[in-house]
Amino acid sequence: MFKEKILQEQIAVITGGGTGLGKEIAIEYARHGAKIVICSRKLEHLESGRDDIVSQTGAEVMIHQLDVREPNEVKQFADAVVDRFGRIDILVNNAAGNFLYPSEKLPIAGWKAVIDIVLNGTFYCSQIIGNQMIAQGGGQMINILATYAWHGGPGTVHSASAKAGVLAMTRTLAVEWARHNIRVNAIAPGPFDTEGARTRLWPTEELQKSITDEIPLNRFADLQEVARAVLYLTSPYASYITGECLVIDGGAWLGKGIGRIMDKVDQFAEMREASRRNRMGNK
Ligand code: NAP
Repeated sequence: MFKEKILQEQIAVITGGGTGLGKEIAIEYARHGAKIVICSRKLEHLESGRDDIVSQTGAEVMIHQLDVREPNEVKQFADAVVDRFGRIDILVNNAAGNFLYPSEKLPIAGWKAVIDIVLNGTFYCSQIIGNQMIAQGGGQMINILATYAWHGGPGTVHSASAKAGVLAMTRTLAVEWARHNIRVNAIAPGPFDTEGARTRLWPTEELQKSITDEIPLNRFADLQEVARAVLYLTSPYASYITGECLVIDGGAWLGKGIGRIMDKVDQFAEMREASRRNRMGNK
């Protein structure tokens, strides 16, 4: 996206970076000169993610198994990264879990699991790596949200509630840590097609079509379109932006009101025009 290697020699940590959007962000960062650290629970995700990042970019990639729900594991992870690279310049809080369920039947264990990964896990990573950034004199954080953090997420109350908490966390930490030269921003993508999302959120083509039909640009985002926005927010070109949440959703959440009936608006306009022509003709 940028000609120069704007992240040259920077150390970027991406939670859940072995799959989906996290891997795409890692590839975008690596193309711009960053050294990459990806972490998640499953070794097979990390190894296949590392192989893809290395084969596409040739970047140096560190992998580390952890569960973001365990603050001790996050601390050991941060120490291991600092032992190897000496600092952490960028943290992308991308790890998440989600599944469709009506709120009145949602098992409490499912509620707790998603809150624990998305809200608590994001805070553990932010606090522990934030302390490292404070000690080294600065850094950048990006949290991956979803627009239902503010418009609500029917069928995903656990994830919507957790992401709303992370939006509040983004704005809070942006102000608290500005004095430590740490910028904290977020992105809110609309739906994009990853294996994780496909299996848990739109398992049928019919469901997938009903979602894209609601998006004014009438398609999912490409992963690269989302990853490039993350790159921009962490680049020097965004050096005065903090506490912001950039929406990348093809107009989806704005289109939820009157946008849904645009075809009918066209129809009504034609009818009105026809009746105006009739009236003129009759005069
Ligand atoms: P994904 O491929 O399923 O990625 C989720 C990642 O999180 C996986 O790599 C997973 O790896 C990791 N993870 C899950 N639980 C973890 C835990 N307890 N500890 C550490 N890592 C954990 O999903 P995606 O679709 O790319 O989504 C990426 C981000 O975008 C998420 O924050 C999601 O909420 C957000 N988002 C997605 C969409 C969409 O339509 N896909 C829309 C809006 C926002 P392991 O299984 O190896 O742990």
